[in-house]
Amino acid sequence: MSQELLIPVSAVAELLYCPRNFYYRVLEGAEETNKHVTQGKVEEERRDAYARLARPEYTQYRRIHLTSEKIGLSGILDVVEERAGEIYPVEFKTGTTKDKLNDAVQLCCQALLLEEHLGTHLEKGYIHYTGSQRRKVIWFDQQLRDTAYSAIENAKRIILSNEIPAPVADARCNGCSLASRCLHEEVSSLHGESKPRRPLPGINLGRTLYVDTPGAYLRKRGERVVVTKEKEILADVPLTDIDQVVVANGVNASVSLLNSLLYKGVPAYFITGAGRVMGWLNPCWNRNILLRQDQFRLAQDQEWRLRTAKGFVTGKVANMRTILMRYARSISHPMLEESIKQISAIVPKIAEADSIDTLRGYEGNASRSYFQSFGTLFKEKADFNFEHRNRRPPKDPVNALLSYGYAMLTKDVASGLMLAGLDPYLGIYHVAHYGRPALALDLMEEFRCIIVDSVVLRTINSGMIGSDEFEDCFGGIQLTESGRKKFFTAYQQRMSQEIIHPIFDYNLPYRRIIELQARFLAKVMRGELEEYKAFMVR
Ligand code: SF4
Repeated sequence: MSQELLIPVSAVAELLYCPRNFYYRVLEGAEETNKHVTQGKVEEERRDAYARLARPEYTQYRRIHLTSEKIGLSGILDVVEERAGEIYPVEFKTGTTKDKLNDAVQLCCQALLLEEHLGTHLEKGYIHYTGSQRRKVIWFDQQLRDTAYSAIENAKRIILSNEIPAPVADARCNGCSLASRCLHEEVSSLHGESKPRRPLPGINLGRTLYVDTPGAYLRKRGERVVVTKEKEILADVPLTDIDQVVVANGVNASVSLLNSLLYKGVPAYFITGAGRVMGWLNPCWNRNILLRQDQFRLAQDQEWRLRTAKGFVTGKVANMRTILMRYARSISHPMLEESIKQISAIVPKIAEADSIDTLRGYEGNASRSYFQSFGTLFKEKADFNFEHRNRRPPKDPVNALLSYGYAMLTKDVASGLMLAGLDPYLGIYHVAHYGRPALALDLMEEFRCIIVDSVVLRTINSGMIGSDEFEDCFGGIQLTESGRKKFFTAYQQRMSQEIIHPIFDYNLPYRRIIELQARFLAKVMRGELEEYKAFMVR
């Protein structure tokens, strides 16, 4: 077994807890935590302030890194203690004394490493519970050693087979920090079995620090982010309250703050005045190389691409029809009725498309029908006359808002895809071009009208954005700084709005639904789901 495939000691304990959890941690590099794990890490950092602690009765050596190619194991030992000539490992756990086999096996694996390193036999070790400050002795008898060896062999088998183990689907799932990645109840539900029993815990709450004031400067002060312009403080926010940072042209940030954002896993996006995303600073690329291998392999499979692209287009066209039908309840206009009729006629044809080009034709026709009546949905027709979709640059206020909103959505969908471990630049429906996040454009098709178009309609129809929020720019129209702030606020509200999921029947904000769809797409690529099903509003 090569150096790269040495099994981490902590992962052996995870395997005994749940083999699927082990798979996600070791093969996909999952790092999601919960409060117990976070508390454990904080306590560990405190302990590690001293590499060696000498007392008259004992000596402790902290964070000893050992590997054994013979056993195929590697690990960091919390504490190795020496007392009265005897040496033994001590593993620290949060909470009070428990009787858990996986903890005992983890300690036994540490003992196996230590034995090989010292060339001696160890009788026992201790688990130290930080909640009660009590120690529990663990005897390394033959039965425990056999369990540890068999868990290590099982771990090797899972890694070499590269197959995702079945979910344990029992009480262990309730406190599992990987539930949002595993989604075993949701996958069962998509396979026609029972619906999930509980809502999914959210990872990203979408709390965004948006800075669009030219000359503003972002810096880190303690554990807070302070935004200043000249001597004035524009914002002062705790770092823990930020899930993403968006900065526009002309805004500067300190390297120390960018370092902290990376360390905490908070992405920063850099956008132009028109909202185009120029790039982002993201924590290290997701380690799930197996998924990306599948993504690149499937991108060459024309039949698979067509099948999956049909999912994106079906979602987009069905959602456009639903939005128009909702408005048709209060607006009576022949053009609106005609658009609904035309789009309804296109929906059943999508499943029959025999090529991506045919699919593009259907999608183009449906979009044309949709946008031909989009202008009828505005109350204020004089200032916001909309005839058709145009861009680069947009020629009227509605198109300026749509372009800005789609750029924001591209950023958020790309973020969801990266969270799921996918490469946002390798598309299925959209062709890959240099610098184009083609997969983000694919996945956002089903969300365009229900998120962005809906915000455009709401901000104009409610008077939140008036005609004075736009300015001419090189032959086109763009939002002013104050218009961008108002629109961005409305967009964020929409992303945080909770709706009842049409399949799972629990409440989720749109932001989380995008992430969920990205994870389902990843599961299709890994073979856990047969086909991609778009998110469709009722
Ligand atoms: S949710 Fe359950 S099945 Fe999934 S990884 Fe966690 S413990 Fe395992």
